[in-house]
Amino acid sequence: MPQPADKPELIIKGVAAVQGVAQGPAFVFFRDAPKVPNYPVAAAALEGEKLRFERALLATREELSALRQSIAERLGESEASIFDAHLLVLEDPALIGDTLKTLGETTRNIEHCFFQVASRYIKFFAEAHDPYLNGRMGDIRDVARRVLHHLAGFSVRTLASVSDKRVIVAEELTPSDTASFEAGNALAIVTDGGSLTSHAVIMARALRIPAVVGLLEATKKISYGDEVLVDGHDGVVYVNPSVDTLYRYGNIAKERLQLRSRIRAEAGLDDVTAGGAPFKLSANVNGAEDMPAAHENHARGVGLYRTESIFLKNTDVIPDEETQFRHCRELLEAAAPERVIVRTLDIGGDKPFGALFSDAAAEANPFMGFRAIRFCLENKGVFRVQLRAILRASAFGSAKIMFPMISSLEELLDAKAFLQKVASELRAEGIPFDEHIPVGTMIEIPSAAVIAATLAEHCDFLSVGTNDLVQYMLAVDRGNGRIAHLYEPCNPAVLIVLRDIIRAGKEKKKKVSVCGELAGFPAFAPLLIALGADSLSMTPAAIPEIRYILRRSKREDLDNLVERVYASRSPKETDTLLRDFANARLR
Ligand code: PEP
Ligand code: MG
Repeated sequence: MPQPADKPELIIKGVAAVQGVAQGPAFVFFRDAPKVPNYPVAAAALEGEKLRFERALLATREELSALRQSIAERLGESEASIFDAHLLVLEDPALIGDTLKTLGETTRNIEHCFFQVASRYIKFFAEAHDPYLNGRMGDIRDVARRVLHHLAGFSVRTLASVSDKRVIVAEELTPSDTASFEAGNALAIVTDGGSLTSHAVIMARALRIPAVVGLLEATKKISYGDEVLVDGHDGVVYVNPSVDTLYRYGNIAKERLQLRSRIRAEAGLDDVTAGGAPFKLSANVNGAEDMPAAHENHARGVGLYRTESIFLKNTDVIPDEETQFRHCRELLEAAAPERVIVRTLDIGGDKPFGALFSDAAAEANPFMGFRAIRFCLENKGVFRVQLRAILRASAFGSAKIMFPMISSLEELLDAKAFLQKVASELRAEGIPFDEHIPVGTMIEIPSAAVIAATLAEHCDFLSVGTNDLVQYMLAVDRGNGRIAHLYEPCNPAVLIVLRDIIRAGKEKKKKVSVCGELAGFPAFAPLLIALGADSLSMTPAAIPEIRYILRRSKREDLDNLVERVYASRSPKETDTLLRDFANARLR
């Protein structure tokens, strides 16, 4: 670790997204064009710049050769030959010559010159009307990123290249970034953009690491290798923390560690409040691979299986029925005898899928676009394959089906009718499935929230998707860091709607669960249970803390909390009420 006093401490404030404190060196991740430094160079230093370039080319060559060898050993010569093309680009005399010429003409730093030339090549190949030349663009881009990495010392590669313990600093993270990631290497996640429900945060919660979002310029202010301390409680990031800061956080960390071990000790106790009223905490999962964590944290079944994860594993091909069936069955068997709520495909929006959307025009508002049930009802072939897979798997465990992004009764009825059609096909083929599989709907669009009672009449259960519901109610894009502070679950309109949805479900005698991130927020979970939610579904790692809080919550205190929250005059006051309630029980 560098001496804290080496560089001045810099404090950046953002939005606290996942609690916890962590410290370590930064891995600054740029998905797209890196912010390449650009500065003038004195004539006497030009030789030095050339030397840096030669060294970077050499380091890149060594890196590519090593990669080539390891791929050849693991996958064979033909897979490894892709790196031959990369090595050729690296040795391309035109690319090298043009870069050196630009250096002489502009007298700017070498990475800037190289980036200018490489960008010109990339543009040329991207615009060529020839598939072979288009294909070369990828080679040049990859090689350019590697050279820039060696020149500028920052990483422009995928998160898969994080090979030691690091604080991940990114503009934003997408599901595919997080899929490529060696989870154990992340100490904390901080992002320029993002909100409480962005994928970076969902991932951080799953990994039980702190996260701060909405920092706006973290990727500009933090350099690769900077020592970073992340305070996920107050939403503060300390770059090169001072000795004082380190001392202060050392004590806080000790207290938190003690609390964590008390929470762990109670992780396996029953889901009952202090007054003996039952509740149920279940897990949000992406597949059977998440079940060990669900079991370890004593989840009571799965409240949300995001089946799009099967599709996102490889976005070039649509998974066939057997593949989907196998994933689903594995999960149901791993969760048995508990129930699994299988949500049908929620693709599109922030989860684009190449093989399904390649011909679709880019959407100006993908979150409000062609996604989830809208996509499925128009692509019945894809929907049919998935429903067959889910129904077939239902014979091997206990499943419920749930439709995402329902915005009207008609959509729910269409989806149910199609499910019946697929079920009758299976029946005719003599394939077994659960004939009584319950069918539910997510309530995550304001129109669905308003007609929750009607929807409840036509299905077996409701599950509130607060991630989307809050973004649509407040018109605040859940991934946009500029407005992360406006993503305000304590907004009175949100609170009224949450209360009314739960009431509507209860009136129709249907179970209501909450599976958005709010369910796993220590401050929010007691309110949701107090309002009458039957179950809360969350990332497995969040379960023990929520259980600890709820087991210490008496009915009269919960009722009192509801009364005070709905009499509160501002989101800030509500937030304080909710936090105080949780903190009083986290001792
Ligand atoms: C939600 O919107 O709250 C939800 C659980 O779904 P997702 O986060 O997958 O959109
Ligand atoms: Mg959603």
